[in-house]
Amino acid sequence: MEKLIMLGTGNATVTKCYNTCFAIQREEDYFLIDTGGGNGILTQLEKAEIPLNRIHEIFISHEHTDHLLGIVWLIRMIATQMKKDKYEGNLNIYCHKELVDTIMTIAELTVQPKFFRMIGERIFLNSVADGEQKEIFGHRLVFFDIGSEKAKQFGFTITLENGKKFSFLGDEPYRTCEYEYALDADWLLHEAFCLYRDRDIYKPYEKFHTTVKEACEYATMLHAKNLILYHTEDRNLEERKYLYTEEGKEYYKGNILVPDDLDVIEL
Ligand SMILES: [Zn+2]
Repeated sequence: MEKLIMLGTGNATVTKCYNTCFAIQREEDYFLIDTGGGNGILTQLEKAEIPLNRIHEIFISHEHTDHLLGIVWLIRMIATQMKKDKYEGNLNIYCHKELVDTIMTIAELTVQPKFFRMIGERIFLNSVADGEQKEIFGHRLVFFDIGSEKAKQFGFTITLENGKKFSFLGDEPYRTCEYEYALDADWLLHEAFCLYRDRDIYKPYEKFHTTVKEACEYATMLHAKNLILYHTEDRNLEERKYLYTEEGKEYYKGNILVPDDLDVIEL
């Protein structure tokens, strides 16, 4: 049984939980998707009991701080383990072409040369194109450009071991260009910045985000079986699960999940 481990569920500016990132677990191995805003990724991985030497594939969706900057720490720590012979094999990082250059630049400026040199040796930055299929983690993945107007961003869809369709749409609202990738998903991962009723407080639309209501309307239109909401505000985490589910039920009859950081979902 493959599992989804939510490492972070918050938007860019949260302080009470970690920024949105997650891992898919298959037996002893993990495919990491986004890395959050910094060193906190190491804390989340430790709490989730995910050893660094079991991560050999990472996907980075886009350049914004809350998804990208944890990668610097992973490059540094995994390069250290490689040097100490505590990490077998290579680390492959996947992202769109421009992001390869961004990661190289940031890593070169911030990571010691002896670790940075592992890039190209045992750490590989692999660019993926819109619509490109790749065999990763023993699965067929299809990457796609979500059509962002803020910063170029990619999502992906994956066929799980049990044949189910898992679709990650990044941290922006569904767009029609994602239709084939999102349609009939067994697991649809969609951002929800806040409740619809709180839209005047958090102003999601001006930040190119949606509320629970629109995320649920998209899930209905796309016939999603399970909808996972993430990338939210963090003012009331204790009641987030309940409040978001209650609002969402009005607009979507499938299964709504509003995970907390470190929640594990069986896929
Ligand atoms: Zn974000």
